[in-house]
Amino acid sequence: MADGVVIIGGGHGGSQVAASLRADGYDGPVTLISAEIDLPYQRPPLSKTYLKEPERGLQELRPAAFYESHAVDLRLGTTVEAIDRAGGRVTLAGGGSVPYAKLVIATGARPRVPPIPSVELDGVFYLRDAADARRLHDRFVTAESVVVIGGGFIGLELAATARMLGRTVTIIEATDRLMGRSVATEVSQHFLDLHRGWGATVLLQHPARAILGEGGRVVAVEAGDTLVPADIVVIGIGVVPNVELATAIGLAADNGIVVDDHLLTSAPEIFAIGDCASFPEPFVGRRLRLESVQTAVDQAKTVAKAIVGKPEPYRSVPWFWSDQADVKLQMVGLSLLADRSVVRGAIEEGSFSVFQFAGDRLVAIDSVNRAADHMLGRRILDTPDLPTPEQAADLSFDLKSLMKRPAMAARA
Ligand SMILES: Cc1cc2nc3c(=O)[nH]c(=O)nc-3n(C[C@H](O)[C@H](O)[C@H](O)COP(=O)(O)OP(=O)(O)OC[C@H]3O[C@@H](n4cnc5c(N)ncnc54)[C@H](O)[C@@H]3O)c2cc1C
Repeated sequence: MADGVVIIGGGHGGSQVAASLRADGYDGPVTLISAEIDLPYQRPPLSKTYLKEPERGLQELRPAAFYESHAVDLRLGTTVEAIDRAGGRVTLAGGGSVPYAKLVIATGARPRVPPIPSVELDGVFYLRDAADARRLHDRFVTAESVVVIGGGFIGLELAATARMLGRTVTIIEATDRLMGRSVATEVSQHFLDLHRGWGATVLLQHPARAILGEGGRVVAVEAGDTLVPADIVVIGIGVVPNVELATAIGLAADNGIVVDDHLLTSAPEIFAIGDCASFPEPFVGRRLRLESVQTAVDQAKTVAKAIVGKPEPYRSVPWFWSDQADVKLQMVGLSLLADRSVVRGAIEEGSFSVFQFAGDRLVAIDSVNRAADHMLGRRILDTPDLPTPEQAADLSFDLKSLMKRPAMAARA
């Protein structure tokens, strides 16, 4: 059998697997295969600083010299076409193959395309990778009216960036609130007020019905009963996990490649992590696929440990952030089971947290410009040392007093 680890995908998860394998003492061959031409980079700035100023360059996750000095065979601009499980190798588009003993699928996700007419018109964009951001930036320069379809994180970050660049911006959202899948209603309302205050038009409960064009170029979006003029349209309505390499060899997928609590697929030599993986989430007790840098990176570390023979089940408090203009939104925990919430701080001053509870148990905190609450949540959410709703709402109660012991010790 071949030696070595092959990692498909050089995003946040894939490149962390390579780095963690070396940090954990793995000394076999490591091949990191990335379809993108850019050295692995931070994806979050794509909708923020990089979109505004691509000439300042990507924020590389590690310098080029790292891959050489850590004997990571990084293949950029290379797409894995198929997994040959019987032969223990991956085959590459354009020819060639790479053998593996262990395989990590970290293929991420791709933008969801809405089932509406004319999504193929010139001037319709998606944003997933650096190449998308460069294309989009070039059209931002000349566009007057930008229409963003989707009031989720990426759509709103883009909209804020477009306003900062002086564009006329309309955000079209099908549901009755912004970021509705992910944040508390108070946070949705606050960001609605912010975006309107920054000068964007926000149309809630306006499902996009069609994109209209003239001469092959977009001119408007039909949303609900409204026709919104558009020079460019950016679609941010969520993603579809890249599971096809796995399903082609019979691995199960259910909104992501199905893995166990060690991130192992039903094939004992193949792991899947990050945006493409559906894993048993220990805090909510059901299978989830989480799209965040933290999940991809922490799952990568878990896989590296398993490969070097020190397996531990995956258990990390999930957290996420979204920067919109100069406002920092940070989320920790999962609010799926929450049935009540209390606010700490002052919404009208733009600095507050929404503490969300399932019964009396704190399960998630959404913080707006209150980083200390977020950091505290990351320390305590996996411990018994949690505030009651009354303590959380009471600004005179010192939440730090709850930290009786370090998070790792509490977990053991
Ligand atoms: C614009 C934007 C802003 C974001 N902002 C935030 C944020 O503020 N905070 C946050 O926590 N998260 C944010 N995210 C989400 C975060 O970036 C993702 O959750 C994270 O990148 C997932 O890591 P991953 O390794 O699973 O996938 P990715 O980072 O997407 O990497 C997957 C890689 O696999 C490659 N690939 C796919 N198929 C193949 C193949 N067959 N062969 C070779 N390579 C392949 C892809 O090209 C890609 O490079 C943002 C995402 C985007 C797009």
